[in-house]
Amino acid sequence: MLLEIHQVGKQYKKGVWALREINLQLRPGIVGLLGPNGAGKSTLMRILATISQPTAGTVTWNGVDIRKKPDELRCTLGYLPQDFGVYPHLNPIEFLEYAAALKGLGGRQMKTRILEILELLNLHHVLKHPIGSFSGGMRQRIGIAQALLNDPRLLIVDEPTVGLDPEERMRFRSLLTDLSGERIIIFSTHILSDIEATADQIAIMSKGQLLTNSDPTVLLRNV
Ligand code: ADP
Ligand code: ADP
Repeated sequence: MLLEIHQVGKQYKKGVWALREINLQLRPGIVGLLGPNGAGKSTLMRILATISQPTAGTVTWNGVDIRKKPDELRCTLGYLPQDFGVYPHLNPIEFLEYAAALKGLGGRQMKTRILEILELLNLHHVLKHPIGSFSGGMRQRIGIAQALLNDPRLLIVDEPTVGLDPEERMRFRSLLTDLSGERIIIFSTHILSDIEATADQIAIMSKGQLLTNSDPTVLLRNV
């Protein structure tokens, strides 16, 4: 599995580049995308999630241009946007069945999969409770659950720790570690401590550009 970002740029308004000449190669493991607000993290993630088009450059998934064959990536993509919304009156099973139906996934196997995911995310004790009654950390896990329905090889999570308390942040990090294995997980944050211990690769962004991209042990040796 290989996701390659080659000279990617994004212009929302003429003359203003939200992203410039981004080059990255991503392999299975956790990739931490670190940068302040406005750095371009969400813009890059939306392009990788195939919901926004780059103005320049190409992205390939296992060598195939995602603009030419988006479905090759979409069928194995999980995405948790920053502004992910839940239906507060639904319980986790109802919500995930609905999310699965929207993704064209269904059937008896999907019911089993939903229960497995809820167990994995430690939500099996609240199956019948409305999501509106959940804590921030539990809601984030619902967001992750919907992104895992298709057992994706590429999981993109945009600032998932915003609004979580320190303990919830810690649990969230260990969850991503459990989920990494044979997946590429891209995790954006503006807090270094979210990723310094868990990321296999850290890419630092500022003002639409990639400043560095390396193994955290190499990166943090010089701090
Ligand atoms: P982030 O917290 O990742 O920086 P933003 O607050 O920049 O997210 O963006 C939130 C939403 O608003 C996104 O859907 C983004 O596309 C949109 N948005 C951000 N900046 C602008 C802008 N200058 N003009 C129009 N839409 C914008
Ligand atoms: P980050 O996720 O790192 O906070 P974003 O990708 O949200 O950064 O934003 C990068 C830049 O692009 C910001 O200047 C933001 O205002 C701008 N931007 C983001 N989305 C839009 C949009 N839909 N339309 C116009 N400008 C946008």
